[in-house]
Amino acid sequence: MDERLRERLLEALDRFNPCDACLGRAFGYRLTGLENRERGRALKLTLGMLAQAEDDTDALELLARSGLEEATAVLDDPPSPEPCGICEGVLSRCDEFAEAAALELEELDFDGFIIGSRWPDRVLDRERELWDVLETEGEPIKREFNREVGKRVERILGERADPRDPDAELIFDFRPSLDDPKLELNVKPVYVRGRYLKLRRGLPQTKWPCPKCKGAGCSECDYTGKVYLESVEELIGMVLKDAFLAEYHKFHAAGREDIDVRMLGNGRPFVIELLYPKRRTADLRRLEERIEKEVGNKVRVRDLELGEAEDVRRVKDLSERSLKRYRAWVVFEREVSEDRVRKALNELTEREIHQRTPRRVLHRRADKVRVKRVHEARLIRHEGDEAVVEFLCDPGLYVKELISGDEGRTRPSLAELVGVRAECERLDVIEFLEEGDRG
Ligand SMILES: [Zn+2]
Ligand SMILES: [Zn+2]
Repeated sequence: MDERLRERLLEALDRFNPCDACLGRAFGYRLTGLENRERGRALKLTLGMLAQAEDDTDALELLARSGLEEATAVLDDPPSPEPCGICEGVLSRCDEFAEAAALELEELDFDGFIIGSRWPDRVLDRERELWDVLETEGEPIKREFNREVGKRVERILGERADPRDPDAELIFDFRPSLDDPKLELNVKPVYVRGRYLKLRRGLPQTKWPCPKCKGAGCSECDYTGKVYLESVEELIGMVLKDAFLAEYHKFHAAGREDIDVRMLGNGRPFVIELLYPKRRTADLRRLEERIEKEVGNKVRVRDLELGEAEDVRRVKDLSERSLKRYRAWVVFEREVSEDRVRKALNELTEREIHQRTPRRVLHRRADKVRVKRVHEARLIRHEGDEAVVEFLCDPGLYVKELISGDEGRTRPSLAELVGVRAECERLDVIEFLEEGDRG
């Protein structure tokens, strides 16, 4: 061994008392196929042999203090081993940490995992100082820890560590304490996409927290924290969350219908994000049936399939590109002839509608004029002052106002063309056309 290297190693032992792994890691990229602890032990053994040959008790004592039993054995009055000044003993506990990790991961259903770690600055600073003394550029402690624990967990669980696309990530946070790290488990969400039907009016699409208490519960909301007890989101989410043993769910849909509007026909596309799932698969046909059985008078789902993160953006984009077909129950102020209604609907067909933000949504939407197109307008039924009509509309066209005219804010409107005041009494979305659905 080079004299200069030997001096530096003895200085490092004196200042940092590194364990085999921390010493070996400083030379972590020399000779492959070795574990750092083997590298460190090889260096310590070499130093020990040289020290014994020269009767260098000081050096042997440093080695004994750092845990080299061979040095302890040859000394008359050896010092007792002291914890590593870099990792403070963490790297000698990899087996134990791997057991803890396996315990956390065991109850999960996953494909590929990764072990991560976070370290206090003092460990990283001392590691850097050690390398400076040794004039090396070693392997960071984080990499060694993650790899060593990962290898052990692979052996315990028979499950592959996969850094490219892991479903589960377990992070040891040593920042608060090196003895007792905090464990943080991150699991990739599961995405389930499909289409939903809303069969009951008065049901909001998403959870609607009480505006007064913001969900905490108050006298205003009967201590439910909600304006409406149920929503499409919650009715579907409840069943899926349960099936995937998830902790939370987030609901994303291709637009939304008003609370008093039903969503029928082929349903509206949605994707539900299940967070912290313990299961990653389920029999989706059975889940559709379960939803039908449990809440089928309010909500149904169809075409459920496992999705991916990208579906969230996709489903949102869809709402801006999809035409919707509506069925509306119209009430005129007085009796009108079928002929007049038919004529008005013909005029609305393939017509551009200039629609200023409806008064009812002005509190949450900017006041501006949108130009949208009605593609089809058909009369289904007419009697006296009532008519049932169907419209196929551009996305974002407000149909209630297309009927009433919203006091001149929507032009033309059915009321304007018939020449009699009209209101939309009930409304259903009966078809959600995705791009390409329409010939
Ligand atoms: Zn160490
Ligand atoms: Zn409240």
